[in-house]
Amino acid sequence: MAVTVVGSIAFDAVKTPFGVRERMLGGAAVHFALAASFFDEVRVVGPVGDDFGDAELDVLRARGVDVSDIEHVAGGETFFWSGVYGWDLNSRETLETRLGVFETFEPKLSAAARESEVLFLANIQPDIQRAVRAQCTGARFAALDSMNLWIDVARDSLVHTIAGVDCLVLNDAELKQLTGMPNTVKAAREVLSWGPPGPSSIIAKQGEYGATLITADGYFSLPAFPLEDVVDPTGAGDTFAGGFVGYIAACGGARDEELLRRAMAYGTALASFNVEEFGTERVARLTGGEIAERVRELERVTHFSDAPVTLRG
Ligand code: AMP
Repeated sequence: MAVTVVGSIAFDAVKTPFGVRERMLGGAAVHFALAASFFDEVRVVGPVGDDFGDAELDVLRARGVDVSDIEHVAGGETFFWSGVYGWDLNSRETLETRLGVFETFEPKLSAAARESEVLFLANIQPDIQRAVRAQCTGARFAALDSMNLWIDVARDSLVHTIAGVDCLVLNDAELKQLTGMPNTVKAAREVLSWGPPGPSSIIAKQGEYGATLITADGYFSLPAFPLEDVVDPTGAGDTFAGGFVGYIAACGGARDEELLRRAMAYGTALASFNVEEFGTERVARLTGGEIAERVRELERVTHFSDAPVTLRG
């Protein structure tokens, strides 16, 4: 099933304890698209400015991503984000966010994008996400990601937008912030109670601790893939979402509990590659064989089988 994604298309400036990049290709939609491109056809929707050229588009094109819905805004500046990570790579500080061309963006999707059966509303202003959702009348599965900034400055719009999707993917802390609930399970149950319509599955992303899937009658958690060297976590969440949503698209949109668990494994595997190098560097030269091998290894390291012993008491 074809996948359409809207979200930031960006230049990022990132500093981690392991290096610095002053200006690299980034953005939630870009990270998502590269990951999802391993599973199905992907088209990216969003604006870029004069500073965004063929070198950047070629990273997406090389993975077969359809860039014809990327709109070049003459005289505009591409979305820019800068952030810094300390030794605890799970927490980061945003130094600057410049919306640039997103400030005035009004999405006008091509017929092919509108007919995509799978839609991912990657992180961006929730009004834009909702305008895209409204145009994608062909979408049979829609998922959404967001972040603390939009909970802070546009919560009502975000809640309204969440009501129009099937799956919410959010950082654990942001899920708690969104709902005012101090516990992941309670926070997810709260969002599930907003529907129907509304999300029937919630994913709480927990950084280096993995991710948890909560549905009306299911719960499943996976750790992050155990890596010794993590260089830059930027885009890990979007890459996870690309693997998760991409797997669902490749399976024709089915989403029974078992399938969602396998989709979590693919998301986890993709995200683990993303953090090995800066920005899109690692995923851009990833192969399907490497992904399959990592999913097998993840299955091995997370498997256990019970052997009862006599318990005292
Ligand atoms: P992640 O690490 O998965 O949260 O995603 C990082 C990506 O999100 C970076 O490449 C940024 O360009 C992008 N980003 C950062 N802040 C925002 C924002 N306020 N809205 C949309 N995208 C953002």
